[in-house]
Amino acid sequence: MELHDKLETKFRLDVNQKKALQKLKIFSVADLLFHFPVRYSDLSIVKNIAELIPGEMATVYGKISKLKTKKGFRSRISMAEGEIEDLSGKIKITWFNQAYLAKMLHDGENVKLTGKVTKGKNSTYLANPEFEKLPYLPIDMHEMLFAKNNLPNSGFSYPIYAETRGITSKWFYHAIEKIFSAKGGSASGGKEIRFLDTFEDYIPSEILKKYHLPTLKTALVWIHKPKNKADAESARKRFAFEEVFCIQLERQHDKFEYRKNKSFRIEPNKKELEDFLKRFPFKPTNSQQKSIETILADMAKNFPMSRLLEGDVGSGKTAVAATATYTVVKQRPFDYALGKPQSFGNLQVAYMAPTEILATQHFESFIEYFKHLPINVGLITGSGCRKFPSKSNPNTWTTISRAQLLKWVANGEIPILIGTHALIQKTVKFKNLALVVIDEQHRFGTTQRRKLVRKDNIAPHLLSMTATPIPRTLALTIYGDLDLSLLSEMPAGRKQIITEIITPNKRSETYEKIKVELKNGRQLYVICPRIFEVDEESPADSPLAGSLSRPAGLALPLGASACETPRKRKSASDSNSLEMKSVVAEAKRLKKEIFPEYEIGILHSKMSKEKKEKVMQDFSAGKINILCATSVVEVGVNVPNATIIIIEGAERFGLAQLHQLRGRVIRSTYQAYCYIFAEAKTEKTIARLKALKTAKNGFELAELDLTLRGAGELGGTKQWGITDLGMEAIKNIKMVEAARTEAITLIEEDPELSKYPLLKAKVKQKTSEFHFE
Ligand code: ADP
Ligand code: MG
Repeated sequence: MELHDKLETKFRLDVNQKKALQKLKIFSVADLLFHFPVRYSDLSIVKNIAELIPGEMATVYGKISKLKTKKGFRSRISMAEGEIEDLSGKIKITWFNQAYLAKMLHDGENVKLTGKVTKGKNSTYLANPEFEKLPYLPIDMHEMLFAKNNLPNSGFSYPIYAETRGITSKWFYHAIEKIFSAKGGSASGGKEIRFLDTFEDYIPSEILKKYHLPTLKTALVWIHKPKNKADAESARKRFAFEEVFCIQLERQHDKFEYRKNKSFRIEPNKKELEDFLKRFPFKPTNSQQKSIETILADMAKNFPMSRLLEGDVGSGKTAVAATATYTVVKQRPFDYALGKPQSFGNLQVAYMAPTEILATQHFESFIEYFKHLPINVGLITGSGCRKFPSKSNPNTWTTISRAQLLKWVANGEIPILIGTHALIQKTVKFKNLALVVIDEQHRFGTTQRRKLVRKDNIAPHLLSMTATPIPRTLALTIYGDLDLSLLSEMPAGRKQIITEIITPNKRSETYEKIKVELKNGRQLYVICPRIFEVDEESPADSPLAGSLSRPAGLALPLGASACETPRKRKSASDSNSLEMKSVVAEAKRLKKEIFPEYEIGILHSKMSKEKKEKVMQDFSAGKINILCATSVVEVGVNVPNATIIIIEGAERFGLAQLHQLRGRVIRSTYQAYCYIFAEAKTEKTIARLKALKTAKNGFELAELDLTLRGAGELGGTKQWGITDLGMEAIKNIKMVEAARTEAITLIEEDPELSKYPLLKAKVKQKTSEFHFE
């Protein structure tokens, strides 16, 4: 057997299994070996049915039967009933209010149930148990995966893999077994050895020893076939470490590469800088001051800065970036022929924002900051270009053609260019790009960065800014290539936002409170989870779908009854979305029923740029009192007089996102309010939302989010290219720091990892899997 062997050459696979493996992206023996169990079924709390005692929570395994639905005799509530049986006995099951469950399970199926053993009038039953369908019963002796003496209550566990239709954990278990016992090493002079013994470890052995991590071979055995919990944990730790280590190696290598470039050395004039700072209508906080100093020190070096400025929403990152921008554009480009600075022109700054709204808003702020100087400011977005000042009216901006703008950027006449992603397209050429500011961009990839390096190896300084409150461990990992500055304090005079979780019965009361604030001249955001009603919504994949809307009569019968069959259950999510407030409908409702005397505007991503901008302008100017919007206003939007925000369907947003949204209303010294309207009543959801009240800042919240939610739910792979296993590592600051320290040392010693070809290959493989760019 060889690692690259295709599975179908080693296993007999039926069509369904082939399909399933393909779906899981498992093609080779190596893929299979690195498809780790997602967890181990912990059987220590498993009980024999005969031993169950009323009042306790218990897990039982068995066959289910006698499933049926009925209505409560007096209560008339719908319920599902059944029976579960194992070798020791049987017990009744009752699910109240969840009649559809009876339809999702089938008589004769193997299940794992966890619920409370409850004594009823006539019998003892398992109340509202959580269920998991099982391909087989682990405590059935024929299927025992482990030795007999490892029976329940001795901490025994068996591996559970991410499965998909057509393939089971059992299949994985046996396939891995086969691989482990295979012979291999065709190159070993005819003498056959165990395939497993042919594996070479890519992690340097000193590192494994130092952190007490098992070797690759041991870890593979322990992760798939652990004898005990400790072995399994040890193996998982190794693979988690490995993942963070590889990411760190890649990031540190990036940093090393970027620093090989030259950059423009910025030497600001102290007096001018002070004057610029004085023009702000506020005094910079100590944090802002310190960050500015650090950034200026970075930019005075002859290699490019790569810095991340992390600051909670409203901490004033824009002012810091504007100051850095000022020092750069004040400087004349260097004339290498003459060996001294030119007597004309300016170094250039590119300022990139994630949305048009934000880019436009920054453009306007920058006009304020720079209008007293002979410096042009440009704006480029997907839908048009602008320049300040206008020739005909030097107090304002004018629209210009893209071609014209590009020309002026290329010849250096526009020193400050603000924009969306359009800013870094190939066609945009700068003459002397010295600084790139990336606002609220979670990650600006290496490839994108490389594009900005000039032919003569001069690279711009890079200032990345984010308010995404992410745990420090995660920041250290995904931004491993950046130096970190923190804006740890809020501008003086900001009052803590009063945050309240509003249950449906408190709605009208809350509206009354809001009316008082509106009367005092404040403004309100209402954030809804979707744009249109379900009926109007046009799914992105079908431009025609909008006109194919279902008749209302068909779309609606989705109450509890529609959930009752498994097939229709899919539409349960539709039923939720029906209850989900939409911007368009909610704006209408508020105007009609709640706030008839106020001007209500709407804002969402499907509107044209002109419309969006008009609405934002009217809202800024106070012509619109209430802005009903989707989360498009999530990042950066700054209207200081808007001090109240309602977030509808809050359970649909992550804590970090809610915090960002709430950040819209902490931009002035007025008392701000955030009303979180939640429909969900589960304790877990409410507990999660309550964290918004208790956490002192975004960072604390992020840490909380990490502990409250399972690592898997943080969407690591999707957002940051980190697997669930890697996310486990992220919870452990010691591990992240160790991986980082080792990666830094290794890259310093051997930047290209030429002494570690296996490790180099692994890093390459991992980083390509994760699509870091
Ligand atoms: P963010 O860090 O979220 O990007 P902004 O840069 O948009 O925050 O700043 C939020 C608001 O706070 C703006 O209205 C800005 O003018 C104001 N601001 C920034 N720094 C200070 C300060 N030191 N004192 C008072 N207000 C400030
Ligand atoms: Mg901002």
